[in-house]
Amino acid sequence: MFSKRIDRISESATLAMTAKAAELRESGINVINLSVGEPDFPTPDNIRRAGKLAIDNGHTKYTPGGGTLNLKKAAALKMERDNNLHYDPQDILISCGGKHALYNACQVLFQAPDEVIIFSPYWVSFPDFVSVTGAKPVFVNTNPNNQFAPDFNDLKNKISNKTKGIIINSPSNPTGGVWDDETIIKVLTIAKEINAWVFSDECYEQLTYDAPFKSIASLDNTNHQILTFQSCSKTYAMTGWRIGYTAGNKDVIKAMGKLQGQSTSCPNSIAQAAAIEALTGDQKQVSIMKKVFKKRRDYIITRLNSMPNVNCAIPGGAFYVFPDFSTHINNSNILSTANDLAMYLLEKKAVVSVSGDAFGAAGHLRFSYAASDENLKNGMDLLEDTLNEI
Ligand code: PLP
Repeated sequence: MFSKRIDRISESATLAMTAKAAELRESGINVINLSVGEPDFPTPDNIRRAGKLAIDNGHTKYTPGGGTLNLKKAAALKMERDNNLHYDPQDILISCGGKHALYNACQVLFQAPDEVIIFSPYWVSFPDFVSVTGAKPVFVNTNPNNQFAPDFNDLKNKISNKTKGIIINSPSNPTGGVWDDETIIKVLTIAKEINAWVFSDECYEQLTYDAPFKSIASLDNTNHQILTFQSCSKTYAMTGWRIGYTAGNKDVIKAMGKLQGQSTSCPNSIAQAAAIEALTGDQKQVSIMKKVFKKRRDYIITRLNSMPNVNCAIPGGAFYVFPDFSTHINNSNILSTANDLAMYLLEKKAVVSVSGDAFGAAGHLRFSYAASDENLKNGMDLLEDTLNEI
């Protein structure tokens, strides 16, 4: 009945865990959800007010398919201010979240028999974005002891004459890894040599804790095959508003706009008005959230690394940790995979995590620290109990 296209993709594992947590909560269980991929803060006041004002002022109709000119100008200003990137509004496309932007870009650039490099562990959606186009995701290993930077020998081995794109996500979901400039420049050099498109998914750009963030395109302003993807979701706690944007090559932006016009028409008009305030208004809340996340990162890393045989390098950004439980799983009589461990935590302890299997990393679990201090403490206590039981 279904097209081959739909059979090439699978359900998002992270959204599936979120649904499972909601189910348990509805049945009256006090769930500790450490699987969440969104800030546990409300959208800042000034942004909410801008949304309300947009409704009252009648910004409730279709906008241009690729977003309003005012929001494109705001995104250009923001990238100039924060990222040292210089884009005109026509180099920018507004989409229904960063996910939509990345999906569209894959659709307009990739097809069979193209190959697209994805660094493993990867965000769950990257392989599906690529597969649905008919192109092939090709996975490259990374080094957990160096912020999950690429294994360059593996990268060189995996490049072929079919390689059309390379997807970078620093800070990363699920690892929190942040690549240093030298690493990024090395990847950009390789990409240029083989004429590949570079996708830089920068949705966690404001959440780096140990070094200031540098947008990848700012490291080589002569490469016109870099597409930058940013989003209001994580930076401004606006996940439900669904606003993300792409900046880069005009022709690609135009093609993405054409696809968008024939699929979603336009991003939500009210959310677009609020996003202008997010990008150009008071940025105080961004640094407040970042400070809280850093404190929680330090707490959860200390807890994890104090557990016997748990190994978790300190991630430089985002709000995830990605510890390795291989030793526990290999020595267990009752569990054999990270999936089993995630299910045990869920069913016996009501702690929600996401199995590393979903991100291409057996033996790992992803915990999000976008959760209250109390939930983090209780979640880590229950994890410790679990590791003693299995
Ligand atoms: N990219 C990464 C790495 C993510 O983790 C997410 C969300 O979880 C997104 C993109 C998409 O976010 P949004 O569509 O809300 O902008």
